[in-house]
Amino acid sequence: MEETAQISPRLMKMNEQVVFSDAHFHLDLFDNPATVVADARKAGIGIMITAGSDAASNLRMLELCREDVYGVAGISPDFSSADFSRIGELAELVKMNRNIVGFGEIGLDATAIEKAGMEKQRAAFVMQLDIARELGVPVVVHARRALGAAMEILEKEEMERVVFHYFEGDEKEARIIERRGWLISVPPVESSRRKRAIKEVELDSLVVESDSPAVGRSPADVLFALERIALLKGISTDEVGERVTKTIKEYFYI
Ligand SMILES: [Zn+2]
Repeated sequence: MEETAQISPRLMKMNEQVVFSDAHFHLDLFDNPATVVADARKAGIGIMITAGSDAASNLRMLELCREDVYGVAGISPDFSSADFSRIGELAELVKMNRNIVGFGEIGLDATAIEKAGMEKQRAAFVMQLDIARELGVPVVVHARRALGAAMEILEKEEMERVVFHYFEGDEKEARIIERRGWLISVPPVESSRRKRAIKEVELDSLVVESDSPAVGRSPADVLFALERIALLKGISTDEVGERVTKTIKEYFYI
């Protein structure tokens, strides 16, 4: 065998920057969004998707979403009572800024029923799904202790592109999600149930998120989730990162 022949794939990678992505975080909750974005870029995070939660955070998104910072706008379960009347604005936001690429975070949260009862949460969720479907944009779903109920609604509403942010389901639910062509978003927090879910599905059904500053400290914390997936799938972190970026780009038409 000739000795001069090939550069190893690993060495090639060192020259060509691998682009990682953060499928879900909250840029508007940081004191200094510009620094957060600059630091994330230095850490190799090329694409970031910031999520709205109430009417005010959705409006802030109009300034924050530029270059490779994308956003999803939505009224979260927490605010589905307080900001119910603002749901109608969402379609306009998506049309106003080409970097607002979908709706989120929207869904059901059984731990938030003091702020908004389940009936109100359901009504806000379904109303937003209807607009998203009409516009043909994906939705980022928050389902806390209500995954089964949220999945039932999403199926009934015939939603095609759904990302389950901070997925907390098991392997059975993961399988259903994969079959429907939806995506599981893995946060930088480990659980044995999530491990089983990750093992159960193909890499193409997985994306990663920092959910910073609420869960992770910054978008760079997606590295933790990428490393866990790499370990469970027996491939390199770079490869997982590249595949996730490709999946996000395709799913959100970025
Ligand atoms: Zn979040």
